[in-house]
Amino acid sequence: MYQVPQSSPYVPCPRCQNPLPNKVTMSWWGGIVGPKMVNLVKCPQCKLQYNGKTGASVSQFITIYVGAWVLLFLIVVAVLFFAQG
Ligand SMILES: [Zn+2]
Repeated sequence: MYQVPQSSPYVPCPRCQNPLPNKVTMSWWGGIVGPKMVNLVKCPQCKLQYNGKTGASVSQFITIYVGAWVLLFLIVVAVLFFAQG
């Protein structure tokens, strides 16, 4: 595979313009799957976490992602509760 050398595959930090964010492989809210879904990167300078491909904020995604898991958990608990009568 031929690849063009790049300084960074990610877009610069939208807050402080740092061109070299660090890839985030694991987070408290999404384990190892969540960060992958949004190409999560973290700026070493201002600690901002954002989408490394688009530069978009991930706070909304985190809210939805965590919310979905909480909802799933509640559904499972409810099903178990009602299944036992
Ligand atoms: Zn930054």
